Amino acid sequence: MDNKNNINDKPVDKKPKNFIYEIIDEDIKNNRWGGRVHTRFPPEPNGYLHIGHAKAICLNYGIAKYYGGKFNLRFDDTNPEKEDTEYVNSIIEDVKWLGADFEDRLFFASDYFEQMYQWAIELIKKGKAYVCDLSAEEIRATRGTLTEPGIESPYRNRSIEENLDLFERMRKGEFPDGSKTLRAKIDMSSPNLNMRDPVMYRIIHQRHHRQGDKWCIYPTYDWAHGLEDSIEGITHSICTLEFENHRPLYDWFLDELGIYHPQQIEFARLNLSYTVMSKRKLLELVQKGIVDGWDDPRMPTISGLRRRGYTPEAIWKFTEMIGVAKRDALTDVSLLEYAIREDLNKTAQRAMAVLNPLKVVITNYNGEELLDAINNPENPDAGTRKIPFSNEIYIESTDFMENPPKGYHRLMPGGEVRLRYAYIIKCEEVIKNEKGEIVELRCTYDPETKSGTGTSNKKVKGVIHWVSAKHCFDAEVRLYDRLFNVENPGELDNWLDYINPNSLEIIPNAKLEPFLQNAKPLDKFQFERLGYFCVDPKYSKDGKLVFNRTVTLKDTWAKIAAKSSS
Ligand code: ATP
Ligand code: MG
Repeated sequence: MDNKNNINDKPVDKKPKNFIYEIIDEDIKNNRWGGRVHTRFPPEPNGYLHIGHAKAICLNYGIAKYYGGKFNLRFDDTNPEKEDTEYVNSIIEDVKWLGADFEDRLFFASDYFEQMYQWAIELIKKGKAYVCDLSAEEIRATRGTLTEPGIESPYRNRSIEENLDLFERMRKGEFPDGSKTLRAKIDMSSPNLNMRDPVMYRIIHQRHHRQGDKWCIYPTYDWAHGLEDSIEGITHSICTLEFENHRPLYDWFLDELGIYHPQQIEFARLNLSYTVMSKRKLLELVQKGIVDGWDDPRMPTISGLRRRGYTPEAIWKFTEMIGVAKRDALTDVSLLEYAIREDLNKTAQRAMAVLNPLKVVITNYNGEELLDAINNPENPDAGTRKIPFSNEIYIESTDFMENPPKGYHRLMPGGEVRLRYAYIIKCEEVIKNEKGEIVELRCTYDPETKSGTGTSNKKVKGVIHWVSAKHCFDAEVRLYDRLFNVENPGELDNWLDYINPNSLEIIPNAKLEPFLQNAKPLDKFQFERLGYFCVDPKYSKDGKLVFNRTVTLKDTWAKIAAKSSS
C-alpha cells in the first residue's frame, strides 16, 4: 500500500475560484455560522469510490482545509439492501489515501437512527407526517406529473394517535415489507414533485451491516440526509446537482423540526469520457466478470486508479484543473492522463524494458561492462545507475524494419542507431527462421561512440532502448486501453455492447533491466519510450512481478535523446 500522501502537510496555498468559495466568503463576512466551516463527504457504502467521488472529496476537504475548518467522513448507511462492510473499509482506505483527513470524525448515519425516529414522532405529533398503506406502486401512480397535481392518499387524514400507534408497530416489525410507509404531509399539488408527501420510512426486514436486526424500518435519503448534517453541525452541505430539486424538502424537514439548519449547495457531478460512473453499472462490470474486481486497473474507481499507478497528487491536480461548475458536462479522460504524466514525469525512476524482444548479437564486442544511466532527467537529485551491457541484447522488434519507409530513423539493414546510454551499432546481417521470420540481428558497434565519453562525433538520428540478454529478467507487463469504445457509454441503454475488447493486452515475458527485480508493489517507473508503469499489488507474488502501464508517454523522447546521447 502506497502511503505517500503529502496533501495533509501541504497548506492550500492557492484559493480555487468557484461559486462555492464565493458563498462561503460571503457567509464568513456575515458571520453566518459564527465563522465556522464544516463540510462532509457522505458516501453510501454500496460500492467502491470512483473518480467522481474523488472530486467531491477534494472539494469538501479542500474547503475545510482552506478555511481552517473541519471535514467529516460520514457513511450514509440508511439502506441495508445494498450495503456492506467491504465497501465501508474500501471507502475509508480510499479517502485516507487521497489525504482527506477526517481526524476522529468518522460517522455512520445508522448511529442516528434512534434520533431520527424520535424526530419522525415529533412530525407525526405536529400533524406533519402520517402512516400510509399505499404500496410503492400506488404512491408512484398517485404522485401526479409536472403538469398534473397528485392525488391525496386515503390514509392522509389518519389521527395523530393512530399514526403514532401504527408507526410504533412498524418499528416493532408487525408489518411486512412494503405494506406501509411513513410519509411527510406537505402538499400533493406542489409544483415540486419531491414535496408531494414524500416517503420518510419504508419497511425493510433486512439485516443492517452495523445495526444487525435492530431496525426493520429505514429512513429515505431525503428524510435522513439533512438530519445527519444537522446532528454533525455541518455548515455547507455540498452535493451534486440532482439534489437541487430536493433542497426545498431538505429545508422543509429542518424547518418543521426547528433544528440546526445547514445550507445545501449543489455542484455539477464529474462525468468522464470512455467510462461509466454509476455504481450500479460499475457493480455490473464486476459481477459479470468483465473486469477483475472493483480495483481492476481499467476501472474509474480510486482503487483501480491506485493499482494502475495513479497518485493522490495527480488526482488532486486533476480535480483542480476541472474546477467546480453548475452545469453537467463530460470531462475528457485525457485530462486525467495529463495529470498523472505531469506528476510521474517529475517523480518516476527511469528504467529500460523491452516488451517485444528481438535479439541483437554484437559481433565485435567482447566481455561486458557497466554503463551510466540517468535515473530521472527531471530531477538531478535522483542520480545515476549502472546498466550492464554485453554482446547479446534485446531491442524492441518494432525498432527494426527490413524495408523501412523514408524517414525511418531506427534500425534497418546497413543502418545505424544509438543504443541509449551505450554505443552506436550498425546492422550487418538479418537472421531468419525457416518461416522467413526475423529472429536475430547481427550488428557491429563503434567503440568510439560510447555515451558520455566517446571520442567520435558521429551522429545518428535514432536512439533506441535495449536490455542485456543475459542480465535482464522476465516479467509480465499489462497494457491497458479504454474500457469502452464510445465516448459516453453511460447514456446508452445497451452500454455493455460498447466494451472495448482490446482494453487489456498481457505481455507474459517482457525483458526488464535487472534493478527492477527489487521493485515493490505500487512502485512506479518510466520505462523509457514506453510509458509509466506500476508494480501490480495483486498479481505480483511468489517472485513474479507484474507491471501495469499507467499511461503512455507524451512524445518527449526526441528531446531527451538530444540532451543525453552525445
Ligand atoms: P448512488 O447514490 O446512486 O449510490 P452516488 O455516486 O451518488 O451513487 P453516493 O455514495 O451517494 O453515491 O455519493 C457520495 C457523494 O459523492 C455524494 O455527495 C455525491 O453527490 C458525490 N458524488 C457521487 N458521484 C459523483 C460524481 N460523479 N461527481 C462528483 N460528486 C459525486
Ligand atoms: Mg447518491
